[in-house]
Amino acid sequence: METTPVSEDCCVKVAVHVRPLIVDEKLQGCNDCVTVSPGKPQVQIGTHSFTFDHVYGSTTGSPASSMFDECIVPLVNGLFQGYNATVLAYGQTGSGKTYTMGTGFKDGCHIGITPQVMNALFNKIDSLKHQIQFQLHVSFIEILKEEVHDLLDPTSPNKSDTASTGKVHVSGKPPIQIRESSNGVITLAGSTEVSVTTLKEIAACLEQGSLSRATGSTNMNNQSSRSHAIFTITLEQMPITGDGSTNDVMNEEYLCAKLHLVDLAGSERAKRTGSDGMRFKEGVHINKGLLALGNVISALGDEKKRKEGIHVPYRDSKLTRLLQDSLGGNSRTVMIACISPADINAEETLNTLKYANRARNIQNKPVVNR
Ligand code: ADP
Ligand code: MG
Repeated sequence: METTPVSEDCCVKVAVHVRPLIVDEKLQGCNDCVTVSPGKPQVQIGTHSFTFDHVYGSTTGSPASSMFDECIVPLVNGLFQGYNATVLAYGQTGSGKTYTMGTGFKDGCHIGITPQVMNALFNKIDSLKHQIQFQLHVSFIEILKEEVHDLLDPTSPNKSDTASTGKVHVSGKPPIQIRESSNGVITLAGSTEVSVTTLKEIAACLEQGSLSRATGSTNMNNQSSRSHAIFTITLEQMPITGDGSTNDVMNEEYLCAKLHLVDLAGSERAKRTGSDGMRFKEGVHINKGLLALGNVISALGDEKKRKEGIHVPYRDSKLTRLLQDSLGGNSRTVMIACISPADINAEETLNTLKYANRARNIQNKPVVNR
């Protein structure tokens, strides 16, 4: 049995979210092949045992409801201190990435990380509004076939026709360009940035963009998404002059920080999804993004190589290029590896756990954006 220790001073947190068996899997007679150790952040599949920062299971271990408090609240608090942050949901199609990240507010049931972030942000803004002036902007893009597209484009129809998309997205607009400023800040040229002042406005952006997200069917899940979706919240803070009061989160200077909430494309290999033609090409590109992400994470986590000034291959994919200023360096990162407990998915589940395990060595140096 292979067991992996947890490094104490790791700035990237890796959590595993094991969803329950879903109806389809029960109908197929699947068995649960994933064991979560009670009270320990450990997950076991076959002879492989992994330890992560947190493991959230449906039967044992910490309940998923504590995921937000343990993994995400520190990132939201960091935003108010000027730290960029990234939350990545990784896993095969159908493993619960979109469920975990959330697409909107639903009455009385699970709402996911993104809507909970929105609630927490507005609660905090409300409590500080007499000392600090806030500005919130959101953008929502997807990366499909190595092109960046705007999910908040007001001229775009709600459903993308992925079969007919070529160089130009279905809205007819050219893809968005990723730019880097002289101080290393990554921006998107041509994407819609919506200024929001209320919870209702920000929730509308999430719901609109989630509807626009390109989807396509595969053998594994007919609502499977082959794109990376990135919902970005930018928080700007300016102290209100004339008010002499201070507190521990109040800053003397202008601060700007962003939080990327990333619902990654399915991590399964093209052959398992029965992809072909156009869709196969998309599969290849998605693998490129996830492969580059894995390589960036691995380069950042290798302390010895970092000291020698190792090249971090951010430019190898649009995904890593876009996350460049929020992954490593000035940022806090949480990766949530989503897995199915079903025995038919055991091979992909093991791949996901191995990939997530690589991410645990990453170490970021927090720097405040001014
Ligand atoms: P992905 O985005 O990774 O393809 P989804 O989030 O769409 O996967 O989840 C696949 C299915 O599993 C959906 O029907 C979803 O409602 C269900 N599901 C996912 N996670 C959970 C969970 N923690 N509890 C209950 N059902 C879940
Ligand atoms: Mg999904």
